[in-house]
This record gives sequence, structure tokens and C-alpha cells, in this order.
Amino acid sequence: METQQDWKQYIPEVLDTLAATYFGKGSVELSDPYQVLIATVISQRTREEQTTKVSNRLFAKYPDATTLADAPVEDLEKLLYGSSYPEVKAPRIREIGRLLRDNFGGKVPNTIDELLALPGVGRKTANCVLVYAFGIPALCIDVHVHRITNRLGWYQTKTPEQTEKALEKILPAPYWFTINRLMVQHGRAICLPGVPQCQRCPVRQWCETGQNRPGPPAK
Ligand code: SF4
Repeated sequence: METQQDWKQYIPEVLDTLAATYFGKGSVELSDPYQVLIATVISQRTREEQTTKVSNRLFAKYPDATTLADAPVEDLEKLLYGSSYPEVKAPRIREIGRLLRDNFGGKVPNTIDELLALPGVGRKTANCVLVYAFGIPALCIDVHVHRITNRLGWYQTKTPEQTEKALEKILPAPYWFTINRLMVQHGRAICLPGVPQCQRCPVRQWCETGQNRPGPPAK
């Protein structure tokens, strides 16, 4: 009788290979917490190029929480043009500025509960801030991490929240810092949202979906 393949056993091989492919092993470079937080809110339902453009425009005018707290919502809405739902994000972002100024001395808090209490901040955004701004291990589960880890066969989950819980149990600690960046790069380059390009994927031999797709034989 054929035994079921346990694809989770290949987590280190997959992530080390992706790291070698996309940026080599290493720790995450920390960025300014204010910019990580606001840019991640701006990025919701928005393409990366647009997120970068819009974020840079906003940071040039409102470089910190204190200036953001006094920003007119109409001005923020104009600056957010190019990201999705600027009319929703503008008041939320201004409110984040006010809360940071009034409750945290203008700084971004570094606990999940305090971050989740900010408007427009869900688990993905909060975890991204913890990892990328503070170097605190956290699982930043975006659409790429959710899609690719399911395709790899590590588990079958329906939502990013379920993925976060499943990954928490199986992902070795050092990879908590890198999995998001690796999967984002891989999801944009090869494991595309529509049809994955398995024939040129460096981790195909450890992927359930890749092994079951037609194409040149895997290594
Ligand atoms: S083999 Fe295909 S499905 Fe698997 S990770 Fe690579 S591109 Fe994605």
C-alpha cells in the first residue's frame, strides 16, 4: 500500500533553497516602525509598485506619527490615490497617527495586542510590523504564504488565519523571520497566483502540487 507523503518534512529544504535563490540566508533588515506600519496598511489590496509610490509620497509630507496626526483627511486621501480604497484608508491612517501620538509618545508599539487595537490593523499587518520593524519572531501570513504553503502540501487551510495557526506548530523558529519575504518573492516570480510555473521551480521536488503537475520530470 502506498504511504501518504509527508511534505512538511521538507520545510528546511524548501526554505533554504528559496533563500539561496532569492537572497541568501540571513536575518531580516529592520526598517522604521512608522513606515512599516503605514506602508503595510497602504498595501492592503494594492500592488507593490503602487504601495511603494504612494507610501513614499505620504512619508515625504508626513514623515512621522506627530505630523500624520494633524494631517487633513482630504489631503491624505489625495496622497493615497493609486492605492485601493483611499477614502477608507485616509481616516484610518490619520487615526493611527493620533493614537500613536496620544498613547505611545509618537512611537509604534511592539506588542501584538497594542498593534491590533489600531484601526485597519489586522493580524497580517501586526505580525509584519513585529518582524520587519522590531525583529520579533511573528508569522506574517499574506496571500503568497497562504497559497504557496498549501500548494507545497504542508497542510490544507482555507484562510490566512488558519495558515498562521498551522504554521505556528510546524515552522522551526529561524524561518519565522524569512518565510514571508521568501514566499512573496517566490509568489511573484514563479509560484504565481494563477498558474504556477512548476517547470522552472527550484523546490519542485519537495512540492506536492509540483509533483502532480505535468511537465519535465522533477529532479
Ligand atoms: S512546484 Fe509549482 S506549485 Fe510547487 S512551489 Fe513550485 S511553482 Fe509552486
